[in-house]
Amino acid sequence: MDTLESAFERVTVTDENEDQIVTTTTYHKAKGSLSAAMSISGLGSSTTAANRMKLPLQKLQQPNTSKPLSTTITKVTLPSQAAQQQRSSDDTSSHRRTESLYIQPTAPRQFHLGMFEVGKPLGKGKFGRVYLAKERSSGFICALKVLHKHEIQQGKVEKQVRREIEIQSNLAHPNILRLYGHFHDAKRIFLILEFAGKGELYKHLRREQRFPEWKAAQYIAQMAAALKYLHKKHVMHRDIKPENILVGIHGEIKISDFGWSVHAPNNRRATMCGTLDYLPPEMLKGGSKDNFYNEKVDLWSLGVLTYEFLVGEAPFEDTQIMTQRKIARGEYTVPNFVSSEARDLIKRLLVLDPEKRIPLEDVERHPWIIKHCVKGERAYQRSSGRSSDDREEN
Ligand code: ATP
Ligand code: MG
Repeated sequence: MDTLESAFERVTVTDENEDQIVTTTTYHKAKGSLSAAMSISGLGSSTTAANRMKLPLQKLQQPNTSKPLSTTITKVTLPSQAAQQQRSSDDTSSHRRTESLYIQPTAPRQFHLGMFEVGKPLGKGKFGRVYLAKERSSGFICALKVLHKHEIQQGKVEKQVRREIEIQSNLAHPNILRLYGHFHDAKRIFLILEFAGKGELYKHLRREQRFPEWKAAQYIAQMAAALKYLHKKHVMHRDIKPENILVGIHGEIKISDFGWSVHAPNNRRATMCGTLDYLPPEMLKGGSKDNFYNEKVDLWSLGVLTYEFLVGEAPFEDTQIMTQRKIARGEYTVPNFVSSEARDLIKRLLVLDPEKRIPLEDVERHPWIIKHCVKGERAYQRSSGRSSDDREEN
């Protein structure tokens, strides 16, 4: 983090290439590091670059070159191979791959832009653009998020970005988007993220209007597993909503966006961001010194998410004033088409008193979850709206 922090301090603003990554990047000398010039080809949205992304994935190589005095950018960890399970089945080291699924690799590795072939843009956020990318030596497919330092400074979100990187790079769970590492140059910060092949959950939900119960239940089970993992690590997400969930290539969900996860408890989101829909009642109060809250805020949001998955809109959706009022009173109605089991889970999550919300362990064994989630089965093992009775995959 030292390097990153010093990067913010050293920032100088000159020209910017807004729409594509520059072809040659000079890395300026950072504290305790050597400078180096590197070039990269196959940039922006060039079709050849995009097509190359479709090449069959190769096995990720272990780094045998840790050049002691080479271009020190930032220490990062090697990507786990978990994200790329679809690789060739004749891979003899498959058992090793499985083992590494939940284990944070420890071998430090230094990354720089020249190591990546950058492909098509995947999307644009408030502070950055995300590109499909391939690590050249291994063929490892990932998403490269590019943040411009001057925008981060102007937006006064240095702290958030730093926290996001700190937290997310220490998390390794199948339902949490991995952050494999980061590096920077004079103007930009690059985050090496797990590629979520099926994009934003929000778009899936809007397209399907609402999810069938089996799918909603499997998504909620995955959310509960991810939140349990987070809470065990004393991380509260605080910004659970469909916009912050991505979908992996097998249809599994990946929580992303840890920008607010350790943000000081206040009502900042309420004032700065658009929607109040997912805000728990204890966070509504904002401002006052005695407004303490804990990880149970995520349980409330999980309740809102369950509702939105099944109904297609959030339970407290209304004008700002009315939404706040409804949240404070816990006032919502569930349409008749929602099953009684699902209704029961929503009711146990949307409880005003944070301490009385159903714990995540009990969410996982709630009748609604049990009914739709056969043990060990995940949503990504299904591709369409079949019921749990006509499943054929493993
Ligand atoms: P905000 O700036 O408010 O956080 P955002 O979450 O949309 O907005 P980004 O995280 O920068 O911003 O992502 C922009 C878009 O790029 C996403 O909405 C998504 O469509 C796409 N995207 C981001 N990360 C990935 C990824 N790892 N895999 C696939 N697509 C991604
Ligand atoms: Mg985001």
